[in-house]
Amino acid sequence: MSTVGGIEIEELQRSLRGALLLPGEAQYDEARKIWNAMIDKRPAMIVRCAGPADVRTAVDFARSHGLPLAVRGGGHNIAGSALVDNGLVIDLGMMRSVRVNPQARRARVEGGATLRDVDHEAQSYGLATPFGINSTTGVGGLTLGGGFGWLTRKFGLAIDNLVSADIVIASGERLHTDRDSHPDLFWAIRGGGGNFGVVTSFEFALHAVGPMVTAGLLVFPFAQAGSVLRKYRDYVEALDEDVSVWAVLRKAPPLPFLPPAVHGTDIVALAFFSPLPPEDADAAVARVRGFGEPVGEHIGAVPYTAWQQAFDPLLVPPARNYWKSHNFNRLSDDAIDVVIAYAGKLPSDQSEIFLGLLGGAANTHAADEMAYPHREALYAMNVHTRWQDPSEDARCLAWAREFFKAAAPHAAGGVYINFLNEDEVDRIAEAYGPNYPRLKEIKAKYDPDNLFRSNQNIRPGA
Ligand SMILES: Cc1cc2nc3c(=O)[nH]c(=O)nc-3n(C[C@H](O)[C@H](O)[C@H](O)COP(=O)(O)OP(=O)(O)OC[C@H]3O[C@@H](n4cnc5c(N)ncnc54)[C@H](O)[C@@H]3O)c2cc1C
Repeated sequence: MSTVGGIEIEELQRSLRGALLLPGEAQYDEARKIWNAMIDKRPAMIVRCAGPADVRTAVDFARSHGLPLAVRGGGHNIAGSALVDNGLVIDLGMMRSVRVNPQARRARVEGGATLRDVDHEAQSYGLATPFGINSTTGVGGLTLGGGFGWLTRKFGLAIDNLVSADIVIASGERLHTDRDSHPDLFWAIRGGGGNFGVVTSFEFALHAVGPMVTAGLLVFPFAQAGSVLRKYRDYVEALDEDVSVWAVLRKAPPLPFLPPAVHGTDIVALAFFSPLPPEDADAAVARVRGFGEPVGEHIGAVPYTAWQQAFDPLLVPPARNYWKSHNFNRLSDDAIDVVIAYAGKLPSDQSEIFLGLLGGAANTHAADEMAYPHREALYAMNVHTRWQDPSEDARCLAWAREFFKAAAPHAAGGVYINFLNEDEVDRIAEAYGPNYPRLKEIKAKYDPDNLFRSNQNIRPGA
């Protein structure tokens, strides 16, 4: 790394429409906080970009000074890839505009927007596109890795709805990419993460959704977990696209619809979602309710935007977080038994094991149609270990790792890149699957020196 002098820093500052934050300055410490409090990195500078021209300036500056570079969208990546020690961070947090064209059913979304930003604007026209289940997550990281949530069974992954993108590549060039312009790049950014440049603007297809949908929670006691999960498995494997149900095993939060005696006890919660109105979704709700004897439920018509924010309060920073994830194509009885065994010894009140449901429209694409390859996976299972006190680190990490190992023989052998930890570099090939060699070639074309390497990195190769 070359040294960067005061004059060069002043020049960089002058050339920006946004702001440059340096260590010791007001806001610097706030700006280097991200969702996962396990990450404590100290960048040499944080460039708060006001638009694509600033992004280009920052990319050129990092490249020409040999500075390590990181790109921050919503700051939610568990591996902490949004930050880099002693390098330059491109912070897109000021670039959150969303412009909806209701006639064309398209949204133009800046690279630093959150899911909430897009839902807010699109829902004012009764439109939406599939994203994740926490509204504070960044569109940037989520989309570039794939992106799945409640609308995925109906409308596919976020990348299945990506129409085009504006991107600043390692050379500083600003490209527009879609199926016809730089199609190799467009193929690669749909699942290849932040490896290929900084996306300053995404264009998404939108669909009519809501504003009211049918959603909520059905909560069962842990003693019924074996039978509830088996019935859940049999049900979702033959489910149509209009319904999605995720299973979560954790300790009951003090939700007002649960009897106080249930608070803090082990539970299985089934989170139900359908874009249909209650009169059309009621039969499906009744079926799921019948998987056991619920200790509480809260389900019915709810605004789509409210459901998109429903889980936010459980996940607010600061907290220490560690994830371990497997994809499953099917859930065997043995897999269910392992899930229950480890859910019975959760290391903290906030930890959980969840089964996110894929399938439906997400599984109608070929594995090589774009970089994201996991088109046979029906479940993305994530062990979300969450706690506050650093003295608990070893115990919490050990639980997650042991569960991960015990579940591995029953899993499909793939993993979603957006759920990888920083200590899982050895799983990158597994995450990109059969598309990895092509991704390496495209990386060599657009980023031969691997400038964009603070991510689930694809090394340039032949
Ligand atoms: C609470 C929570 C809930 C989640 N729920 C879901 C879910 O329901 N579904 C799901 O699919 N995923 C989910 N995720 C995972 C999420 O997709 C990843 O954490 C993702 O990386 C977050 O993106 P971000 O922009 O917020 O993160 P950041 O940490 O800011 O970015 C992660 C990486 O993405 C790249 N990047 C981000 N923006 C850009 C851009 N504009 N241009 C180029 N590169 C960029 C960079 O390489 C960056 O290091 C969740 C994560 C959390 C913490």
